[in-house]
Amino acid sequence: MKKLLPTSTAGSLPKPSWLAQPETLWSPWKLKGQALSAGKKDALCLSLQDQQHASIDIVSDGEQTRQHFVTTFIEHLNGVDFEKRKTVKIRDRYDASVPTVVGPVSRTKPVFVEDAKFLRQQTKQPIKWALPGPMTMIDTLYDDHYKSREKLAWEFAKILNQEAKELAAIGVDIIQFDEPAFNVFFDDVNDWGIACLERAIEGLTCETAVHICYGYGIKANTDWKKTLGTEWRQYEEVFPKLQQSSIDIISLECHNSHVPIELLELIRGKKVMVGAIDVATNTIESPEEVANTLREALKYVDADKLYPCTNCGMAPLPHQIATAKLSALSAGAEIVRQELANTNSDGIHDD
Ligand SMILES: [Zn+2]
Repeated sequence: MKKLLPTSTAGSLPKPSWLAQPETLWSPWKLKGQALSAGKKDALCLSLQDQQHASIDIVSDGEQTRQHFVTTFIEHLNGVDFEKRKTVKIRDRYDASVPTVVGPVSRTKPVFVEDAKFLRQQTKQPIKWALPGPMTMIDTLYDDHYKSREKLAWEFAKILNQEAKELAAIGVDIIQFDEPAFNVFFDDVNDWGIACLERAIEGLTCETAVHICYGYGIKANTDWKKTLGTEWRQYEEVFPKLQQSSIDIISLECHNSHVPIELLELIRGKKVMVGAIDVATNTIESPEEVANTLREALKYVDADKLYPCTNCGMAPLPHQIATAKLSALSAGAEIVRQELANTNSDGIHDD
């Protein structure tokens, strides 16, 4: 990106009320068959326009064509039985009824490639596409076949790599893997989680990102956050190895979070999508608040590597709140862009 501080979102945006129940995760579709396929495309266009009206630089589909960031991908794979359900603890945090892995997992056809192609046709702006990461995928399933989290993760990494290569081929500029599980299972992340992620991006010609957050603003996550104390140092466990990895961009949460911002020093050299919008509150950030978060991050991230972003997806937020937050993100980034431009021109005068 030539533009300094290009803005983007972490992923999901609210769905229109005629497509799915608003402010709800795993919300069932309100349409069926062809009407649903057409409705998803309309929703994708609306979501794109919302981002464009808010002057977001790197745009996405707002995840309008998927019910959930992990399960929708898994639904398209062989080897997983969605009728056979088990209750497991997701990310060591909350119980959920999940499908069962009953045989070898495989991808028989592309999952999101047609949707991404459609988005590519709608805009010349850089586009980012999110996929679930291997470790977060295995955490959302009951494994009755491989009997090994690591083995299953490697299988998913191979499948994700097939999908990612096809997304890159149709012109996706950045492929992002969502790995909130990286904030929980530190030993596994360092033993094989990052290696699996690198398998998923092997041979890719586009840029790659990993999104590691403290989750959507849903109750299970906000309750968990209360147990984390005043300083959230989870990133400290995985950043050193991520810094050494072949991933280009790291997307993380900053604003209103108890993450000590100096932890960004541990990934110096990487591009960083800095979360400057809190997705767990309906309070809309002021541009100045956004600018403050970015100024803090600039102490640890070079200006040409800083990508202002949201802390996480905004699917559970009311539509108007989400769009106002997008505008605040753009306005805050513009304040800091101007400051950087002034500093640079001052530097020239001083010479
Ligand atoms: Zn997130």
